[in-house]
Amino acid sequence: MLNIVIFGSPGAGKGTQAINIAQKYNLVHISTGEIFRNAIKNCTELGKQVKEIIDRGELVPDELVVNIIIEAIDNRNNGKGFIFDGFPRTFEQARQFGQIMDNRHMPVNIVLHLNVDDNEIIKRLLNRAKLDGRSDDTAEIIENRLQVYRKETEPLLDFYKGRNKLYEMDGMGNIEEVCIRSYQIIDNYIIKKNNQ
Ligand code: ADP
Repeated sequence: MLNIVIFGSPGAGKGTQAINIAQKYNLVHISTGEIFRNAIKNCTELGKQVKEIIDRGELVPDELVVNIIIEAIDNRNNGKGFIFDGFPRTFEQARQFGQIMDNRHMPVNIVLHLNVDDNEIIKRLLNRAKLDGRSDDTAEIIENRLQVYRKETEPLLDFYKGRNKLYEMDGMGNIEEVCIRSYQIIDNYIIKKNNQ
């Protein structure tokens, strides 16, 4: 099994990379943002609970996110592994996530950090706003999401570094270039693991 967390600021390209990685390595892609956006679109109870929070660019409460992750892991396990996109986003989520995965004997192997310049991030998010019309992609809300990321999520990099799970990579350039870089990191990991 191979369990990957794709990590990076809003607009770093996590979703795009996660879809490609999931396809190449036969992993189940779990995107918390996507789960919430679908819930909002379908007007479910969960959607009603999270809509205002997401539209403000804030974080959904940990308990709610963790329950959704548990459900997704247990319902969608294909035996090959997962790629988590947009989760964990706080220390508490990371702590509980560690326990959830340990209990199931499927530890996280790779935390892949996509590094993208701030200027490029804002450019990408504003461009996506034009294309997709996501309600949280306005200039003001983007600023808030970036601040929340710096404060709540970025510190997790040290957490995973300390556990020897962090793999840094350059997220600048076109989608194909970034894809090739991420495959190289994952392939190297697999080779190393098989040689152990
Ligand atoms: P982005 O990476 O561009 O911020 P996402 O699709 O990952 O987009 O998330 C969109 C929004 O969904 C976040 O701004 C947040 O409100 C909510 N969300 C997604 N994942 C989480 C999470 N793990 N914890 C709390 N809130 C989350």
